[in-house]
Amino acid sequence: VNTSRGVFTLFVKSGNLPTPVTGTMSRQSLQWPPEISESELDTLTLLATTYALSHGLVYLPVAKVQPPAPTSTIHAPLSLFPSPIPRKQFEKAKNLQSLYNVLYARIATDVDFLDRVMGEEQGVGQVDEFTGQLWRQWKRLRDREAGIVQPLHLGMFRSDYMVHLPEGSDSPSLKQVEFNTISSSFGTLSQQSAQMHGYLHASTGYFGSSSHLTQENFPPNTTASGLAEGLAAAHKAYGVPTAKILFVVQPNERNVFDQRFLEYDLLEKHSIHVIRQTFDDLAKSAHVDPQTHVLKITPQSKQIAEPVAVEISTVYFRAGYTPNDYPTPAHYDIRGLLESSRAIQCPSIPLQLAGGKKVQEELTQPGVLEQFMQNPKLATTHSREDLEAIRSTWMEMWSLDSDGENGVDRAREHADNLVLKPQREGGGNNVYKDAIPPFLDSLPEKERSAWIAMRLIATPKGLGNYLVRAGAGTEGAVKTNVISELGIFGWALFGGEDGKVKEKEAGWLVRTKGEDSNEGGVAAGFSVLDSIVLV
Ligand code: ADP
Ligand code: MG
Ligand code: MG
Repeated sequence: VNTSRGVFTLFVKSGNLPTPVTGTMSRQSLQWPPEISESELDTLTLLATTYALSHGLVYLPVAKVQPPAPTSTIHAPLSLFPSPIPRKQFEKAKNLQSLYNVLYARIATDVDFLDRVMGEEQGVGQVDEFTGQLWRQWKRLRDREAGIVQPLHLGMFRSDYMVHLPEGSDSPSLKQVEFNTISSSFGTLSQQSAQMHGYLHASTGYFGSSSHLTQENFPPNTTASGLAEGLAAAHKAYGVPTAKILFVVQPNERNVFDQRFLEYDLLEKHSIHVIRQTFDDLAKSAHVDPQTHVLKITPQSKQIAEPVAVEISTVYFRAGYTPNDYPTPAHYDIRGLLESSRAIQCPSIPLQLAGGKKVQEELTQPGVLEQFMQNPKLATTHSREDLEAIRSTWMEMWSLDSDGENGVDRAREHADNLVLKPQREGGGNNVYKDAIPPFLDSLPEKERSAWIAMRLIATPKGLGNYLVRAGAGTEGAVKTNVISELGIFGWALFGGEDGKVKEKEAGWLVRTKGEDSNEGGVAAGFSVLDSIVLV
């Protein structure tokens, strides 16, 4: 180990022989996870799962149809150790959040840009049905006599990153995977997960297995209250204290507790009530007054003999990010109905469109970032250093339809180092490496513009963890080499006449997946909730 040059040696167990792997994530030697005995592992697994069950780090169990009043839960998928993240990269990700909050607020309010990139006449909406449907709902409202009646938008964002450490390099950097503008989830469960690791440390000292496991290296995580603050800010801006916040949710959602903790925080700290409705519920319960454009919900329930209509201040979507949430054209109309109202949308349709992968790619084109961050027409402009800081987090990206054939040829040539992404959210939609050439063979030429190519981030090799699946039963913890993804939450309230963006960074998330898995969605079952040990 050469600590002076910041080089460390990782011993990865393969059979009985330790195989040295060199890397440079810290100045000290780093073996992760630290060495523990079988009985210590059993103890940690028991303490972790019981903590999870008793603190709401849980899901509803698998069931075809969730009962209206559930009687049991299973613990969420989790890691026993927090994962090492370089202190510098963590600080950088947090500091960048304000810039990203402002950037995406600006994109969402640039109608011409969104029409060009995501619209049905010139952009992705021409070839991607889902994007086109959303864009058409928005366009219809812009073109009607009343226009858009609520200028404010609320964004509840999560910017996702990985540590990039190409082979041969000894300086890790922070690279953005994507920027989420809708249904950014796991804010509250990640807070619980960090608390669980804090508890394991307080309870066992992790058996003295690593000098990195000290309280100062566990950054605080108060995401739930941070996110609730964003919703409360929108509610306050709407200006009717007796109104409620509408959570639009998926039927049979298993990740309800992640959402419920936001409700509890809104009620306890802000005295704001929440109503939960699916799109199907809303078909019967939602009404927008044609004169005042006030959105009211009349909850349908057997328990309520005479339901009262409730005014809605803010619509928070935890559904609506995937075409599966819109099984019929009428479901898009419900989305349009909500958007037609005075209620503040989180996100508005333009803000959802701003989160498209195509927009992420478009930002890397010369001059585009400047247009949003250094335009003299804007309320505030940013320094060259700020723009460089944002740009330094980008991997190379291009559109498959760029320069005629060239985008596709380049993708074939570099397939081993690439991921292809469509305009979708929620995991499981991307095409990786060897699957790219055959995929390109089958992709109709006109659909190319809906896909972007992105260089793969080279995550540090040789880091492991003990992963416990959701409701793992007798299987217990599995030791495996892993890849971690850091998400930073933030919110932004914007769109008012002064052009100002009210925004805040709001906490973080770490999801960790087995090294062999391309995708990393916790909900999709590929990864676990984790937290951070700063190194
Ligand atoms: P989604 O919106 O469906 O979550 P993402 O862009 O986050 O789409 O891609 C899903 C997953 O694919 C990520 O969580 C990450 O594990 C992996 N991934 C995406 N882009 C890259 C990349 N450039 N390098 C390495 N892994 C990536
Ligand atoms: Mg993602
Ligand atoms: Mg996403």
